[in-house]
Amino acid sequence: MRDRELYQQILGLQSPWKVSDIRLSLTDRQVVIVVVRDPVVSLTCPVCGQSCRVYDHRKRMWRHLDTCQLQTVIEAEVPRVSCPEHGVQQIAVSWAEPGGRFTALFEAMVIAWLGEAPIAAVAALVGLSWDQVDGIQQRAIDRGLARRKPAVVKNLGIDETSYQDDHEYISVITDRDRRVVLEVLEDRKKETVLAH
Ligand SMILES: [Zn+2]
Repeated sequence: MRDRELYQQILGLQSPWKVSDIRLSLTDRQVVIVVVRDPVVSLTCPVCGQSCRVYDHRKRMWRHLDTCQLQTVIEAEVPRVSCPEHGVQQIAVSWAEPGGRFTALFEAMVIAWLGEAPIAAVAALVGLSWDQVDGIQQRAIDRGLARRKPAVVKNLGIDETSYQDDHEYISVITDRDRRVVLEVLEDRKKETVLAH
């Protein structure tokens, strides 16, 4: 079917993953894209990379960017492998971080909006809870810290955002060249920023 090819391209899926089914629910305004992994392609342990046998499969779902104004969800039976050294491990998928419930593109969109609006406003916009949006922000900070090298930041950005009752502010410090969040500070006092 042509719509499978369309979603394959929209999601940027590559071998061994492909779209196997599309479930459309107009009443829920949701489309579920079912993705399967080619079973012929061998599996490797995500920790050490050695080939492993499949242990079982776990159904996982990820919220993706909306398509055609429909909430879009990727669903896949993700294999778990049994590594002699590292035990049972779920293999990585190309569209999301391990354990994440949103695709990397969806999280990137939320992070981009957090530069323009407070958490509560972004949460209302995408239909998530405050905690879920905060979790996406925290993971972005963690990624930024993990990638952080002792390099000179040439283009530092400090964006203030008010949250909750409009009286509390956070300052989001970003490396604008690398588009990485370096720090989120609890208030907007100059001393707080300088202390970091
Ligand atoms: Zn291993």
